[in-house]
Amino acid sequence: MNLQYTLPEPERLAFEHNHPKVHIVYCIPFDIGEDGNWCGDGWIIASETNVFVMKNKQIVYETDIQNDGEFECLKMDGCGVLIQKNESQEKIIARFSMRHLSRFYYVSRGINLFAKNRTDVVESNEREKICPTCGRVLPGTSECPKCTGNGRFLKRIWLLMRPYKWKFLMISLLMLASSGISIYQAQFQRQFIDDVLIPKSGGIKEVLLFGVIMLLISVTGLLSTIIKNRWTTVLGSKISMNIREKLYSKIQALSLSFVDKRSAGELMNRITGDSIHIREFMEQVFSGLVSQIVTMVFVFIIMLIINWKLALLTLALIPVAAFISVSIKTRIRRIFRRQRRFDDISNNRLQDTLSGIRVVKSFGKEEMEIERFLKINKEFAEIQAFNEKFWATYFPLITFSVGAGVHLISYFGGLGVLSGTFTIGQLTQFSAYAGMLYAPISRMSFLPRMIARAVTSVERIYDVLDEESDIQLEESLVDLKISGDICFNGVTFGYHSYEPVLEEINLQVKQGEMIGIVGSSGAGKSTLINLIMRLYTPDSGDILIDGVNLKKINADSLYSQIGVVLQETFLFSGSIFENIRFSKPDATLEEIIQAAKIAGAHDFICKLPDGYNTYVGESGNTLSGGERQRIAIARAILGDPRILILDEATSSLDTETEYQIQEALGRLIKGRTTFAIAHRLSTLRNADRIMVIDNQQCAEIGTHEELLQKRGIYYHLVTAQLELKSKETKLTNKD
Ligand code: ADP
Repeated sequence: MNLQYTLPEPERLAFEHNHPKVHIVYCIPFDIGEDGNWCGDGWIIASETNVFVMKNKQIVYETDIQNDGEFECLKMDGCGVLIQKNESQEKIIARFSMRHLSRFYYVSRGINLFAKNRTDVVESNEREKICPTCGRVLPGTSECPKCTGNGRFLKRIWLLMRPYKWKFLMISLLMLASSGISIYQAQFQRQFIDDVLIPKSGGIKEVLLFGVIMLLISVTGLLSTIIKNRWTTVLGSKISMNIREKLYSKIQALSLSFVDKRSAGELMNRITGDSIHIREFMEQVFSGLVSQIVTMVFVFIIMLIINWKLALLTLALIPVAAFISVSIKTRIRRIFRRQRRFDDISNNRLQDTLSGIRVVKSFGKEEMEIERFLKINKEFAEIQAFNEKFWATYFPLITFSVGAGVHLISYFGGLGVLSGTFTIGQLTQFSAYAGMLYAPISRMSFLPRMIARAVTSVERIYDVLDEESDIQLEESLVDLKISGDICFNGVTFGYHSYEPVLEEINLQVKQGEMIGIVGSSGAGKSTLINLIMRLYTPDSGDILIDGVNLKKINADSLYSQIGVVLQETFLFSGSIFENIRFSKPDATLEEIIQAAKIAGAHDFICKLPDGYNTYVGESGNTLSGGERQRIAIARAILGDPRILILDEATSSLDTETEYQIQEALGRLIKGRTTFAIAHRLSTLRNADRIMVIDNQQCAEIGTHEELLQKRGIYYHLVTAQLELKSKETKLTNKD
């Protein structure tokens, strides 16, 4: 999201005239005036020391960031305001429409950082929701379809088909050859009619010869069509496979914040549906287009030679068809974009409900879900029907306009035959050529539809392929043999950078240390470990492992040395064996069994009918929470990680199992740097140090005893849990 607009020339000159030496850090527009009416010329300009409000090319307000109060962006009903407040007063600085709301959140945070003497500049990796050029709302992609232009589409299509250019060329040549054969067939037919049939100059031998030659020509045409179709189909499958591969790899490579912004259903739709549309486009349009155009040109030249007046008449109604095509182009594209968007929504709903089927069923909400799905499905069907109805009217209309010229040929050609200026053979040949001219033209009337669908799909595919990961990796990546020293240097991070979840975290962790992370729900505990796992990148500050910036470490090297056991254990569809082996693909069966034994999973796995080969479905539906967690622990153990992350790793276990697993984890964490989040604070008693996160900061840090003595947040959390436990015990005793 742009936080540094370039001022229009008159505004820039006016600003520089008054403040020639000011370095502008943020510059954003506002669009509502003091009277609540739309105004298009407001600007908020901020340097490290001052904020200026510009309207009508004049600075109407100037304030000192350090002394005049804090900035805050507030969301009101249908608009937003930027206010500046200090102890004595609150002042509205600017009013703006909702389209600028996030922008103002970022800038007010940036200005407040300057007020705290920090020099970091807030950046936003959030996407624009409106096109900066034309102001239209973007259709779920980062580019404006209106402003992008067709050149970009063609370039992208070319990039996708470039690896197959020789195959495309061969298909086009084959089609040209088959068109050449058809052209010759019509010529041969004319000669037969004019030279043999009309003067009755031949016998049965000539007729038979004609039949055989025509049959041979047809068989050759048939063979070339079969070969062309087979090549095109194989090529199409390869193209869509290639697109799916690219998309899938890109989605895997992108950071979680990208996936956060999109639903699984939408991404699935792009990988499957959109790749098919592009395949169809290339198969049907590109493979035949070149040869069809060349054929049309040839045919038309021959027609001109035979009878130029009649040839021109065949094209008389083409401008009508062209006019219809051009005039509906934009409309068709808009309809397709809407259809794909709705397709995403309905796919997403379906995906959500199916993966959450247990929750739906356990709350008895099947009817409600069916109703919701039906509603979306109905809307989708309506858009689709509208689209198809539109197309069903348009296509026959254009085919008729194109083909109507044939009636002119019959009339004027017939007159020519009667007056002797045209032979019957020539008329037959001419009609055959007109057919050859019209067929590709009518097929091309499909072009707007095909192009519209492909443009939409290409936009959606490149929207993912062009996405830059917000994990900014340094150029030279190193393979690091991690020992486990971890250092947080002034790390600030928020899922939206204007709203930090963690602020200025400084922490030194020694190799082999176990750090317990404690804090209320939503304090930022998981966020802290997400940063260590490099799932997100800090907005400012650095995380160092063994003195090397996390951004510089090669992903394979990093992830092969980090072991993770999360609260929600995800098991992939596959066997238990495969699920454990995930962390070390070359592990032997013995190693896997050993890891399962340490995790306390071996016994229950052996009791399952298929043992280690037991198939666990999506999310491991067939296993209990505790069993799934033990498999996840075995998975982490197998990787022999140097850094271990336990996020509520024993939360789904009963007390007895938890005790066993704690023991196993105790063995596992020896010598490994460990970060453990646990709801039950008693499980963190053995941690070397406990860090309490509160109010975005590291509020307390020390050993269990030190923190108890301090009588701060940790002390209160522990006593609250103890009280709860004793109440529970009393209740159980009463029962
Ligand atoms: P904890 O682990 O302490 O319960 P989290 O680190 O999960 O807390 O979350 C900290 C804050 O960040 C919460 O306010 C939460 O709503 C928010 N948050 C967590 N994940 C995301 C996300 N993917 N996108 C936006 N906000 C998030």
